Amino acid sequence: MIPQSFIADLLNRVDIVEVVGRHVTLKKAGANYQGLCPFHNEKSPSFSVSPTKQFYHCFGCGAHGSAISFLMEHSGLTYVDAIEELARSVGLTVPREERRPQDIAKQKQALALSEVMGPAADWYKQQLKGAPKAIDYLKRRGLSGEIAKRFGLGYAPDDWQGLEAVFGTYSEDSITHVLVEAGLIIQSDAKRYDRFRDRIMFPIRNPKGQVIAFGGRILDAGEPKYLNSPETPLFSKGNTLYGLFEARQAIRDKGYVIVCEGYMDVVALAQLGFANGVATLGTACTPNHVRSLMRQSDRIVFSFDGDAAGQRAAKRALEASLPMMADDKEVKFLFLPEEHDPDSFVREKGAEAFEQAVAQAMPLSSFFIRVASEGHDWNTPEGRAQTQHATKPLILAMPAIALRAQLIRELAQKIGITPIELESFCGIKSVVQNQAAQGKVTTSPNDGYMAAVTQPGAKKPWNKKPTIPQGPPPTAPTDLAEQILRILLQYPQLGRSLDPEQKRLILASAKKRSEKAMELMDDLILQCEAMPANVGFAVFQEQLDKTPRAKAYAILRERIMSTELTEEGAVEDFHGTLKKLEQLDLKDQMTEIATRIANGQAQDGDKELYRQLMAKLK
Ligand SMILES: [Zn+2]
Repeated sequence: MIPQSFIADLLNRVDIVEVVGRHVTLKKAGANYQGLCPFHNEKSPSFSVSPTKQFYHCFGCGAHGSAISFLMEHSGLTYVDAIEELARSVGLTVPREERRPQDIAKQKQALALSEVMGPAADWYKQQLKGAPKAIDYLKRRGLSGEIAKRFGLGYAPDDWQGLEAVFGTYSEDSITHVLVEAGLIIQSDAKRYDRFRDRIMFPIRNPKGQVIAFGGRILDAGEPKYLNSPETPLFSKGNTLYGLFEARQAIRDKGYVIVCEGYMDVVALAQLGFANGVATLGTACTPNHVRSLMRQSDRIVFSFDGDAAGQRAAKRALEASLPMMADDKEVKFLFLPEEHDPDSFVREKGAEAFEQAVAQAMPLSSFFIRVASEGHDWNTPEGRAQTQHATKPLILAMPAIALRAQLIRELAQKIGITPIELESFCGIKSVVQNQAAQGKVTTSPNDGYMAAVTQPGAKKPWNKKPTIPQGPPPTAPTDLAEQILRILLQYPQLGRSLDPEQKRLILASAKKRSEKAMELMDDLILQCEAMPANVGFAVFQEQLDKTPRAKAYAILRERIMSTELTEEGAVEDFHGTLKKLEQLDLKDQMTEIATRIANGQAQDGDKELYRQLMAKLK
């Protein structure tokens, strides 16, 4: 365990511009540096590195972090390795804290698991060579030796204690315990036996290429047809895509990634010239899957079988994609004829026909409308109302991007209402209204932050003051609260020494916005208080990323990435803002008393209190 204070020190010493600059060509743009994002495919730079914040942020794919996370994400280093490398580059030695026994145990466990997966994969691979019926099976599926080698395919023999050949007898407790944890063998009462028997073995790798789990397919008849490793400290289905490691280069070459239903599809497609395929592992597509796909490519094509299960899977993929959508991303849905999977389709119709089918796949927008209107009749008011009802959660799942505005427009027209009516039904801020008020077309307002901290549509956004003429005056308490949020996000040390009265004023002003805004503010102050004194922007952001409100913080952070606020400026603004909050609070109290007096409900001492408040205000 490396002490937090050392990490803060280290990040204060290294220069992120130099660290990133070793891998990405950066150009100065204002206070920041810009370049092409190394985490997604792009032609114009949306990757920004701030020397003052010591933080990078991609406005395209949302990748962000400190010099440490850059090395982890870009070079595939572990957290500790990244710190070691940075420390070396500035001549520091990494100190170690005493580790708690349970942490050591946990790390040892993951390490032990990863140590048995490699040898197991090698052994399965070897067994394939001596198993004519398995080789025959792969040949019948049209797979070459080259493809089998590339994916590391193997064979688990029809043997209850096969892995004893690699790891020794199962009566030995220490090693078999690890094998049970890794899901390679099953312990039932006193019996221990191999999980995978008489199956073709597909090693599942992490992004570094290490084997973290296996998928096993039965050779012919038999149940279950597909069997995967259980969830382990190494392997989580919701975060893992089969074939992503093997497909990286092909995804870049082809310019898109195909997401299939199973590993057999991935391998078969690679054999037929589509090495850019990946698959989920017997689970529905999750937002985490979509996020890692979008890091690899701007274009995702989901390919599903034509049957009912395929339709259900497609719907889940749509739901997982909506929150991740951006206007430079393209998501399509390829529905093959009912009798086909990708493998059989390419085999029967050829690679060119498949390429064409991919090009003509259904855009996300069309599938969105199909899902929203499914089972409802466009020709009756009831049917249209049901569609409108079904549309709402789908629209709310999307960030405020141009595609959402387009979908709203199109759906509103089909339903027979105005886009403004549909927006207000969904409880989101109207883009159209905004433009009308200004008499000009602007970029769509980024109300993602609002969506993250408030009930949809509950109130007006906080910081629309420059754009809405009839909006709140610049000193409205809600704007002051937003100002505080922005300052604390950049200079958390200012939030460490608030007295109870200041806290009350800040929280009260946030509460005027909404309950959720107040909760976010409360949480941010807590986070500030939990930070050591010398903490910089980057360390603080990484801490916030680990909290349940990470999304709201990320949206807020995106807004301040391109603004520069010096520490002196921040201190001055912070105290100025606190003073204004205090004044507003005094005025509120005075108004309350004045109202009582005007209504003839004055209490003893009201007039005196009023005079005192007035004096304080002056
Ligand atoms: Zn990016």
